[in-house]
Amino acid sequence: MAISINHMEHALQSIIARQKELLAEHPGLTLIVVTVNIPRSVDRTHITSDIGYEALRVLLEYLGRKPDVLDVFEKTTGFEAYVMAPMDARDVKAMCADIESEHPLGALFNLDVVDPQGNVLRRRDVGYRARRCMICGGSALSCARRGAHPTNEIVDEIRRMHREHFHRE
Ligand SMILES: [Zn+2]
Repeated sequence: MAISINHMEHALQSIIARQKELLAEHPGLTLIVVTVNIPRSVDRTHITSDIGYEALRVLLEYLGRKPDVLDVFEKTTGFEAYVMAPMDARDVKAMCADIESEHPLGALFNLDVVDPQGNVLRRRDVGYRARRCMICGGSALSCARRGAHPTNEIVDEIRRMHREHFHRE
């Protein structure tokens, strides 16, 4: 099933709406939104779920505490998890940037951190470099904007990373 651009924009808007709702319902808590950085053609497969749950597992391990809020959704538009804890947003962002940089599947994790006032923290806010492209090691943003790598090349790399990490197809 093809997922249209409109559908994706709708998904993004629904993530933003959910963020606002959670921050309003739980004042003072930092929010982490976990999604996966995977082309749509791989979505709705066990690969997306495996990678999403791995990102969530590692995040919870790093947090070292039981979160106050934990909501997980496996939608047609992808994996989404919402985690909230009474922790300093900058500390949490630094942890998340570390996971994205150090974990073998980190290039496929999106760990977005929103402070209790609704500000989204950037990697550079906590002294981390911009993300690297998993294919060429260049700037991930610039490669994505230019469409530098064909989707099938990206999909093959994701399948390889998944196979290597989970030791299964
Ligand atoms: Zn690249």
